[in-house]
Amino acid sequence: MSQPSIQLIRGFKDILPGETELWQHIERTAIDLFEDFGYREIRIPIMEKTNLFARSIGEDTDIVEKEMYTFTDRGKDLLTLRPEATASICRSYIQHKMYAQDPVRKFYTIGPMFRRERPQKGRYRQFYQIDAEIFGVAAPFADVELILLLRTLFERLEVTDTTAHVNSLGCPVCRPRFKEALTGLLDAAAPVLCSDCLRRKDRNPMRVLDCKVPGCREAMQGAPSIIDYLCDDCRAHFATVTDTLAQLGVPFEVDKQLVRGLDYYTRTAFEIQTGALGAQSAVAGGGRYDGLVGSLGGPEIPAIGFAIGFDRLAEIVAATSPVAVRPPQLFIAALGETARAKAFQWATTLGTAGIGIAMEYGEKSLKAQMKQANRQGAGQVLIVGESELQAGNAVLRNMADKTQVEIPIEGIVEKLIQTFA
Ligand code: ATP
Ligand code: MG
Repeated sequence: MSQPSIQLIRGFKDILPGETELWQHIERTAIDLFEDFGYREIRIPIMEKTNLFARSIGEDTDIVEKEMYTFTDRGKDLLTLRPEATASICRSYIQHKMYAQDPVRKFYTIGPMFRRERPQKGRYRQFYQIDAEIFGVAAPFADVELILLLRTLFERLEVTDTTAHVNSLGCPVCRPRFKEALTGLLDAAAPVLCSDCLRRKDRNPMRVLDCKVPGCREAMQGAPSIIDYLCDDCRAHFATVTDTLAQLGVPFEVDKQLVRGLDYYTRTAFEIQTGALGAQSAVAGGGRYDGLVGSLGGPEIPAIGFAIGFDRLAEIVAATSPVAVRPPQLFIAALGETARAKAFQWATTLGTAGIGIAMEYGEKSLKAQMKQANRQGAGQVLIVGESELQAGNAVLRNMADKTQVEIPIEGIVEKLIQTFA
């Protein structure tokens, strides 16, 4: 008896051929854009010491409280699969003293993240992010540049149904006054808040603004706006961000409910929302984290970044613009063992020379091979059997107009390279 087959882990998924072409298209579009704007790729590990995330994301956040994949390894180190990229990039920036030569650095990274959330459409336990960060720029230009990059990426991918929501979360100078005002309202609303928000109320009151539970949302309708509590510096910063976005023609909405689920944000926070995804409406989120590098043991260096939900973006792009699979330029249909051995030599030489090539490796009728070439969308088929070998000529058939020509087997590879290169 055979064993039952093993299934993948709940909340994890395979990205299969047919989808990967689209993922590559998105990835290439993003990389081109990042490079247009001078961002450099950084690759960080998918595991870090648990402390890094606990200290940066914050003990009282959903991620650290209940979503991290944390375990002790055989050497008794407490490790976590990364739930996001920013903390690791900061760690790397500090560890390699990248600030010493030039504090201004622009990075991007693309890869998997892990959060143990309840799996549903658009929400996975292993998901992917496209991430960008700017270090060392306090000026609001950095904030505007990142929001503009998101807008431009979506435009290049022909995703239109998106809105940028922006807010300011203030700084350690002005945020306490806002929290105080908010706490008054939260105390009054306590009877209708969900159990999570009751806890947040005392430990991290701003997070209540972010709660998706309808009762909490309703109770927060009359919440004060943090914009009214900003100190002069934060107010001026935010005004420059919104004015510059407007000058550049980047559409946005000021959204005073937007707080974002991580502790490290200061000043500008933003999210790209779309109507195309149903309940999981955020396709990207980001913000400024001026205190994070300092709090992780580095110098006081301002920074800002965003993360795009790659899975969600792929879902939107798939719905609007399917990406074609690259078909072989040439399919070699060989008949008989001798011809097949020759065909294999030609195919490998052509493939090595950069020509899109396919062939049938086993014994199949010409009819079956022609069908196969057709199914794969091959541009031309080279037919070679024992009689062609004898005659010294193979047949090259154009699949579009069905015309055929004979080509001499002597020097055939060079000829084909000339034809297809
Ligand atoms: P959400 O409100 O949807 O939980 P978030 O605020 O937790 O999002 P961020 O930490 O800001 O998300 O991550 C940036 C982006 O990553 C999100 O806007 C979303 O598109 C994507 N993302 C976050 N969590 C998941 C997940 N579990 N599965 C798929 N994509 C996700
Ligand atoms: Mg979340």
